[in-house]
This record gives sequence, C-alpha cells and structure tokens, in this order.
Amino acid sequence: MRCVITGGAGFLGSHLADLIIQQGHEVLVLDSLHTGSRANICHLLPHPAFTFRECDVRYPLQVDGPVDIVFHLASPASPPVFTAQRVDCLLTNSLGVYHAARLALDSGARLVQASTSEVYGDPLHHPQVEGDWGNVNPIGERSCYDEGKRYGEALITAMRLEHGLNSGIARIFNTYGPRMHPHDGRVISGFVRQALAGEPLTVFGNGSQTRSFCYVSDLVRGLWLLGNSDHPGPVNLGNPLEHSVLDMAHYIRRLTGSSSPIVHEPLPGDDPARRRPQIARAKEVLGWEPVVGLEEGMSQVIAWQRQVLAASKLPA
Ligand code: NAD
Ligand code: UDP
Repeated sequence: MRCVITGGAGFLGSHLADLIIQQGHEVLVLDSLHTGSRANICHLLPHPAFTFRECDVRYPLQVDGPVDIVFHLASPASPPVFTAQRVDCLLTNSLGVYHAARLALDSGARLVQASTSEVYGDPLHHPQVEGDWGNVNPIGERSCYDEGKRYGEALITAMRLEHGLNSGIARIFNTYGPRMHPHDGRVISGFVRQALAGEPLTVFGNGSQTRSFCYVSDLVRGLWLLGNSDHPGPVNLGNPLEHSVLDMAHYIRRLTGSSSPIVHEPLPGDDPARRRPQIARAKEVLGWEPVVGLEEGMSQVIAWQRQVLAASKLPA
C-alpha cells in the first residue's frame, strides 16, 4: 500500500509513519513544518519507502501515482499554539480537510480524519461516547480548534454522503509519548520538561480537571486499524484511565525524582472539566484497546526528554 500522511512530521504523524513503514508499506508525508520538524522523521528519510514533501494543506494537494489511504493529521494541536493563530487554525481545519478529502476521492483512497475529543467540548456526559453531540462554545477561546474539528467531521460526512468518499473519523483523546515537543505547551510534555529542568510545574486552576492519557504506540495502532477498516466512525481512540491534572503533576515529580515546586496559574477559558473516552466502539469494530500502562509510557517520555535536553537536540 501507499499511504499519505498529512502532518506526518509531527508527533503522532511521525509515529504513524514508523508503524506503516514497519508494516512494509510506502509513506508520503506532506507537512508544512509549522509545528512538526525534520528531526521527527530524519531516521526515515534514507528509507526507500519513505518520502517527505514540505507543503501546506491549505492549498490543493497534488500527488502523482496511486494512493491507498490518506491519514489527515495536519493541524495545530496544542492550545497555546492554536490560540496564538486562530484564523490559520480554522483555515487548516476547513480548507485543509477539503484538500485531503479531495485527494482521497480523486485517488480512490480511504481518508482517515484525525478528529479530537475536543468535539465534545466541556462534556455534558461522562465518559464520552460517540453519540454525544458535544457542548462547545462557538465563540470561545478554544473555538478555532474545537469548531474547526467539528466542521472537519461535517465536511467529511457530507463528502461521504454526496460523493461516496470512503472515510473514517477518529476522535483522538489526549495522547503522549516521545517527540511531543517539550515546549509545545501540552500538559505531559510541559510537566516533564519543567520537572527535569527543576522549574515549577504549572498547574492551571486547582488541577481538579481530568484527562485520560493514551500512549502514542497504542494510538497510532488504532489509526492504522481504522485506516484498514471500512467503518465511517466516529470512533473514540484513547485510554480510559482518568487522572486529575494535579495528580499528574505529583506523579511526574515523583517519577523524575524532581524537587520542583507545584505552582498554580489561571485556568484558560473553556478548559474542559473532565475527559474520558468510552471505547466500546473501538473494541467492537477495530478490535482495539490500549495496552501500554502509564508508568511504562511515562518512562519513555522522560527518557526521551532527558536525551534530547542533554544533547540540546531539541527540534526547532
Ligand atoms: P503536532 O503539532 O505534533 O503535529 C501536527 C503536524 O501538522 C505538524 O507536523 C505540523 O507542522 C503539521 N501542520 C500544521 N498545519 C499544517 C498545514 N497547514 N499544512 C501542512 N502541515 C501542517 O500535533 P499532534 O499531536 O501530532 O497532532 C496530530 C493530529 O492529531 C492533529 O490533527 C491533532 O488535532 C490531532 N489530535 C492530537 C491529539 C494529541 O493528544 N496529540 C489529540 C486529539 C487530536
Ligand atoms: N495544563 C496545566 N498546565 C500546563 C499545561 C496544561 O495545568 O502547563 C492543563 C490544561 O489546563 C488542561 C490539561 O492540563 O486542563 C490538559 O492540557 P493539554 O493542553 O495537554 O490538553 P487539552 O487541554 O487539549 O486536553
């Protein structure tokens, strides 16, 4: 098979590329390097089955030759990044989704859309099931991302119904692992960096808000299974083990042996109070469930950050 991964130089996309190459298939990565980096894929560049092209999904995508699956991951994903460039975020998640879907349609390929648990907003039901419609503020601080991803789901659904697009929507819950940029502002990468640097761990609000953290190898296996199924989704992909942000700060301090203090900063607007996926659908239609425990996954992140920080090899 030949797979296109938009956003394949980012955190999730580069791990997905590793998996697909390991399975013996070809990968073409299309990425603007907006938040991704060559460092994430440099080990793949010499591989004959791997190609990288720098391009922006906000413009039409031209790919010669056959394509079997388009994994559409190109989008900013970290709240501090997307709230700094809201219009770009909305355009990437509207025009970009259209161009990825168009590429899939014109190539007769399947499209897998990287949607998000953010479509549930500040959830009214717990845990979150795919039938929930979500509780999203359309003019809030995070709306460029949340509404962008909701629009993406709507556009793909319309193209499936009107044009027969073969598509699958993955609703991805918080995922962590090596290659998540230590400065990208997300909670696990940030806490680990702060703990290793001896800086205060910045808990937003009182830290009682919860998230459920999935290790990256589990997550990309779920995307791959969805790519190889014919299910339209949406399918929740995430680890149902739920933790408060404050507990995670204490846990990361303990795992790293850090004596960093924990400090509290204001909670960003519309920060969801709870997040936990119900994954019955993923189990049923994909035979998928996460297998990597928190301690095992966290030790990988800590080891990776130690290595890049020690070597000052941080991706730009
Ligand atoms: P990331 O920032 O590491 O990767 C995103 C990639 O998209 C980067 O390589 C970036 O350069 C590229 N990109 C952004 N805008 C682009 C554009 N206009 N044209 C081409 N490339 C562009 O983030 P990630 O965590 O790997 O997220 C990947 C996808 O998964 C995103 O769509 C995100 O919304 C989704 N997602 C991630 C998580 C998570 O916890 N990591 C959770 C839910 C959804
Ligand atoms: N958070 C925090 N300190 C940080 C970064 C994030 O307390 O330095 C909180 C954030 O307010 C949210 C949770 O951790 O409640 C997860 O944040 P992240 O940006 O990783 O993901 P998302 O909000 O998109 O779920």
